Amino acid sequence: HRRLDALRIDNRFARLGEAYFSRVMPTPLTNPRLLHANADVAALLDLDPAAFDQAAFTQVFAGNAPLPGAEPLAMLYAGHQFGVWVPQLGDGRAILLAQVRNARGQSWDLQLKGAGRTPYSRFADGRAVLRSSVREYLAGEALHHLGIATTRALCLIAADDPVQRETLERAAVICRVAPSHVRFGSFEVFYDRGQFERIRVLADHVIDEHFPDLSAAPDRHARWLERLVDRTAELIAAWQSVGFCHGVMNTDNMSAVGVTLDFGPYGFIDGFDAHHICNHSDEGGRYAYDNQPRIGHWNCARLVQALVPLLGEPAERAAEIGQAIVDRYPQTYTRAMTARWRAKFGLNEVRDGDEALMNRFLTLLHRGRSDFTLSFRGLAKVRRDDDAVPAALADHILDLDALRAWLHDYRARLHAEAMADDVRAAQMNRVNPQVVLRNHLAQRVIEDCERGNTTELEQLLAALRKPFDVPRRAEFAAVPPPDARHITVSCSS
Ligand code: AMP
Ligand code: MG
Ligand code: MG
Repeated sequence: HRRLDALRIDNRFARLGEAYFSRVMPTPLTNPRLLHANADVAALLDLDPAAFDQAAFTQVFAGNAPLPGAEPLAMLYAGHQFGVWVPQLGDGRAILLAQVRNARGQSWDLQLKGAGRTPYSRFADGRAVLRSSVREYLAGEALHHLGIATTRALCLIAADDPVQRETLERAAVICRVAPSHVRFGSFEVFYDRGQFERIRVLADHVIDEHFPDLSAAPDRHARWLERLVDRTAELIAAWQSVGFCHGVMNTDNMSAVGVTLDFGPYGFIDGFDAHHICNHSDEGGRYAYDNQPRIGHWNCARLVQALVPLLGEPAERAAEIGQAIVDRYPQTYTRAMTARWRAKFGLNEVRDGDEALMNRFLTLLHRGRSDFTLSFRGLAKVRRDDDAVPAALADHILDLDALRAWLHDYRARLHAEAMADDVRAAQMNRVNPQVVLRNHLAQRVIEDCERGNTTELEQLLAALRKPFDVPRRAEFAAVPPPDARHITVSCSS
């Protein structure tokens, strides 16, 4: 165990006391196999990747052997699920093993997802299937390398245990790594119970660990909330800019440190539909692509509401402070999103009419269900002084007359700035990815992993780690083949 023993474990969350969690050991898996381990994530933990080859590594992260120094627990939380208040939830299949502190002083949660039943499992089995584990493993890397804050995973382990979903599948587990797994719902649960002191203890924990420059401030709770609201708005702007749909933006899936949390039926948009619903179970489209920004706002309001009792006295004053924090969201979101759209279009300077021009292009994409990712890559090929419509763009747009009319105005707009075509193109290609984690690509990896192979996984990971470059396999930067366009993903995982 030498290398794993070298992890610097510092279980601060367990020190908070059992009001915040239930102690529970992982349930062992049958015949666990390490499918993949992530050297970049190991580096965050100061863990030597040579540890991956130890038999103990697979045993520990399968939940079959204890990690020395760990204090496994399932976190308590509540949440608004599809808008409906659920007073008691918690990690039903995730077990927080430990926190690891690295040489830079950062604290990282090691959490096994799919590690067996916990006191919060309700009627469910505590397991995760290989399919959803592969999807979560890939998603963390995809978003991270797009520059988007997210949980990641240290490793992916497959096992033989059967797990019943729509069909009979096999169990797997990932070790999820995040600065913290505290959620908006972790505060809501105590607000609902009127246990305001517990909210204070938990908020101070998050601030001390993850916003230490605020620790000594008398108004630290308000200032942390301001930052978290801003981070959440910026996070969702980043999702929108790459066509990422989370799928289940319940308040129990919203991170207290502002990272993307809990990958289920997520999806990157292929053909652009502004109302795209990635989660087959989301019949009303509450979490549709174009609803994500306002849901983020609504979720922030739920969080701030739970913290209002800490924001000062009298209550009316605290409520005003809280409202002002929530009101930051639309401003921060608009600022972040506008900057991101401008960069996607290669517009450096701000001019009247820019917003209308950009919206017209998005309408073109929406009407023709044009590939969101590749259309923006194609846009970089437009030349200011050349009327030709680049094939890389025309290939994706249905209404070519409308495209020509739009390009006429776009070229005129480009003339308003003194930026050379190749400089603009290079700039655009640094924000408009070529490779995103399309469902059909993930599906192929899943099928390969289900046969025990990891070649597809490794090749897709390599491409996702350089999303702005031309991938080695052309199909990683192509629209899905016709027979792969209707993959549906649901909450079942
Ligand atoms: P999610 O929609 O993935 O955020 O899950 C909502 C809640 O259900 C969380 O508290 C999960 O821990 C719990 N949950 C989801 N799937 C399972 C499962 N297979 N076994 C136990 N709990 C689960
Ligand atoms: Mg969840
Ligand atoms: Mg989930």
